Amino acid sequence: MLTLIKSRLHLKFALVLFALLITFTGCTTFLLYQKSVKALQVESLTRLEETARAWGNEINIEISNTMQITEMLSFFISKDFDLSQVKRQVGYIDSLLQELDPFIRGIAKDFSMAKTAYIYYNWELDGVAHDIYYVDFDNNGDATRQEELPITYFTEDKPDRGDKKWWYGPIETKKGFWSPPYKWTFDDGSYTQFMSYTKAIFIENQLIGVVGTDFKYSNLIALLDKIKVYDSGFPFLLDANQILLIHPTLEGRSIDSIDLENFDRLKSKLSREPSGIIQYRETDGQTWLIAYSQLSNNWTLGLSAPLSEITQSARSMALWAFILVGIFFPIIIIASYYTAKSLISPVHDLTDMVQLIGIGNYSPPITPRILHRQDELGTLGVAIIKMGVNLKENIQSITENAVQLELEISEKRKATDSFNLVYEAFVAAQNGMIITDANLCILHSNPSFLNLTEFTTEPAGLSLESILQLICGDETLILPRSAFYHQKIIITHEDSPKRYLWLIMTRIENKDGQYQYIGVLEDQTETIHQAQSLEYFRDHDVSTGLMNKTAAIHEIRTYLKTKESTSEISAILAINIDDFRRINEAMGYDCGDAVIIEISKRLKDLLQNDHILARTAGDEFLVFLKSINTLQEIETFGQHLIQRITQPIHWRSREIFITLRGGLSIYPFDTDDLDALFNNAITALISAKSAGKNTLHYYSQGIAEEAFEKYELSNQLRVALEQNEFFLVYQPIVALPNQEIWGAEALIRWQHPTKGLISPDQFIPLAESGGTIDAIGLWVIKTVCRQLALWKTSGDGPNHISINLSTLQLNSHDFSEQVAQILNTHDIPFDQINIEITESALILQNSVASENLANLKSMGFKIHIDDFGTGFSSLSYLRDYHIDVLKIDRSFIRDIPQLDSGDIARLIIDLSKSLGIEVIAEGVETEEQLNFLILHGCHYMQGYYYSRPLSPEDFSALDTSKKTKKDVT
Ligand code: C2E
Ligand code: CA
Ligand code: CA
Repeated sequence: MLTLIKSRLHLKFALVLFALLITFTGCTTFLLYQKSVKALQVESLTRLEETARAWGNEINIEISNTMQITEMLSFFISKDFDLSQVKRQVGYIDSLLQELDPFIRGIAKDFSMAKTAYIYYNWELDGVAHDIYYVDFDNNGDATRQEELPITYFTEDKPDRGDKKWWYGPIETKKGFWSPPYKWTFDDGSYTQFMSYTKAIFIENQLIGVVGTDFKYSNLIALLDKIKVYDSGFPFLLDANQILLIHPTLEGRSIDSIDLENFDRLKSKLSREPSGIIQYRETDGQTWLIAYSQLSNNWTLGLSAPLSEITQSARSMALWAFILVGIFFPIIIIASYYTAKSLISPVHDLTDMVQLIGIGNYSPPITPRILHRQDELGTLGVAIIKMGVNLKENIQSITENAVQLELEISEKRKATDSFNLVYEAFVAAQNGMIITDANLCILHSNPSFLNLTEFTTEPAGLSLESILQLICGDETLILPRSAFYHQKIIITHEDSPKRYLWLIMTRIENKDGQYQYIGVLEDQTETIHQAQSLEYFRDHDVSTGLMNKTAAIHEIRTYLKTKESTSEISAILAINIDDFRRINEAMGYDCGDAVIIEISKRLKDLLQNDHILARTAGDEFLVFLKSINTLQEIETFGQHLIQRITQPIHWRSREIFITLRGGLSIYPFDTDDLDALFNNAITALISAKSAGKNTLHYYSQGIAEEAFEKYELSNQLRVALEQNEFFLVYQPIVALPNQEIWGAEALIRWQHPTKGLISPDQFIPLAESGGTIDAIGLWVIKTVCRQLALWKTSGDGPNHISINLSTLQLNSHDFSEQVAQILNTHDIPFDQINIEITESALILQNSVASENLANLKSMGFKIHIDDFGTGFSSLSYLRDYHIDVLKIDRSFIRDIPQLDSGDIARLIIDLSKSLGIEVIAEGVETEEQLNFLILHGCHYMQGYYYSRPLSPEDFSALDTSKKTKKDVT
């Protein structure tokens, strides 16, 4: 049973509910019982006492009526009785009786219970017994007078005067007297039991008589009989002397004589309280209660009843309560059970569903009572169904994943094993190893890395570059970010030998697509030392420590490859000691060695590592001057060198005088081939022998001088723009045959501060090779635009201006845009500008140049081909680029007509016409030439014949007549 309850939620719940209900009902019932039984008991007692008092009052009325009659009789008799008359007047008492007769009769019939009234005169007064006694027992309202008592009644001396107490009692007590019940025998022999209230009348201490009232004892009993005291209870009456007047069993006994527990308390209470309740125990052990009420004549009415009967109602009520509870008991049990069950059974269903899911049935049936529920349990049911479905799917995928996972784990384990192996290798490797992120911040390093770098702090998180900079003492050290590279790291400490580390960095891409580097740091000091010593002996002359020829050539080649500026000029100087063989022969080889060593020392001092020095043969040295600017510089250096080296050499207290010769070859003017350069220097050296001792000889002085001049000019070009040394002149271009000015060609001039005016033929090629052509070209365009703007306002300038473009200018990407922007700035229409390019520009087109050209063309610029006929142009280009004008080169005009028939010029003119292209002939110096051109229909001409190039001012001032027309002769 217990296990059943334990396993059933609704039974547990029912049990708890039941316990709660029972406790509640029990407590309520108990409290109610306690309260109501007590209240009922108290009420019962109070009611009993009240009953006693009510009946007491009832009896009191009868008693006081009775006593009142007696008092009235006493009053009337005392009032009228004249004692002196009794002896003197016979029949006096009779007459009094006569007088009172109707009054007494009236009283007797009026009074309810007593129904009697009487006077008995003292027989001793006149020796006769006088009395009247009226009675209305039959209640018919007519009192009948009874027989007078004979005198013997009073004179008979009976020992027991029980029946005559109504007479003797008041006389003895001289007070109103209540007689106990006594028998009165009537005339007819019948008797009635009476109780009487009598009073003796005394006048001057003489007993006059006794008046009184009786009432039937049976009436009193009947009255008491009316009092209902529960089932077995009863009323009783006690007289003033505590004698029981009426009692079912103990009548006539004094309560003093009653031996019952607590009964004596009645007596003691009577003296104090007019009413009350006492409890006593009957002989059979039962508890009884007496409710009493004292009457006006000191009698006591008592109502006696067993306690059990008094509290009966209260107890029966409690009984009813228990019966009700008893009836409710099973109802409560059943109600608890069903309430619990109805609440819990959906939970059961849900439990069943979950249990089914638990054993693998992921689609458990849902009962309708769950399905149709609107509350949380319904939601839960649906949720469980969904959960089942999800669970099923999840378990499936988990199972699949588990297999996958198993595989992965074993693979991971393998990977971990191999990782551990690799990691151990990483840690134990003799080479330093690091892993960095893309920014070369170190992520991992091995102990060897620390050993090799002698770095003491943990490198993780630090930048590799900063560590290397620190250990090399080279703040400029920057590592490339390329995919693979080597980096030599040299650690120099003042007190320890140099160490060479070799860092090999390899970029890898990790699985997140981010770059990382793996670096291996190798100590190459030993290897380098070995290599260096080998190299050293291979490359060096042992006695002087100088490089040999091979090494020197290699060094020079390396230098030329890495030098910053391509325009830098270098020189090779080959030095030969004169007659060194003779020194050896005359002074011995020791001396020869000493001389050579001293010379090499002096050369070293002189060159100070700035240049390259080598001993190329026994008595031959090579000096490579890395960077020189002027011939003068070489000159000065040479003088210095000769002077220094030819100073006497002290050897074993002797002074040895030597002379030398030098051969010079200039790079790149003489040749840019290094071997040839060296040979040139040697050649120069040989030819220097004839030039005398202690001289330097150039391989070709003229070339060198010119080269240097160009070099100088090229350098000066860089500042010429800033110094404003350029200006433009404008040569008119005239239309043929009328010779009206059609346009002008802008030609640049350089006013050199020392060399005077320099022709563009001289400096434009230098500007092209020296990289200044772009800037100069743009300056030209700007200046032309500015001038055109001026002419626009003055109105005396040409309408078209031709500008010469270097082919190189077309190579800069945004050239066409720059030109367009300049024109726009000065508000010059594009078709006012002719662009002159040479044929080579058409042929050597790359995509940038052709794009620029096409752009310029499409913007509206006219394209003129300069110096046409001298290059290798193809006719197709002329068409492809939509060339506007051809300029016949001067060379085809120059010799017309004397040396040249003008065939080529004519051919060009014809060709142009057939292509629909116009022609300008330039370099026209003579009238014949002009006529020739006019004759053959050339469109325009330009030349000294018409005008030299003019300053803008001169152009403006050009004779207007000349501007409009020039006669052809
Ligand atoms: P070019 O384009 O053929 O210019 C014509 C040259 O012939 C000019 O020499 C001009 O003064 C000269 N000339 C004109 N008429 C006669 C004549 O009747 N007889 C003779 N013998 N010569 C005449 P210039 O000014 O010395 O220019 C030489 C070259 O320099 C030009 O040849 C041109 O290729 C180049 N050049 C001039 N100015 C510029 C420029 O601003 N930019 C570029 N890139 N090149 C320029
Ligand atoms: Ca030109
Ligand atoms: Ca030309």
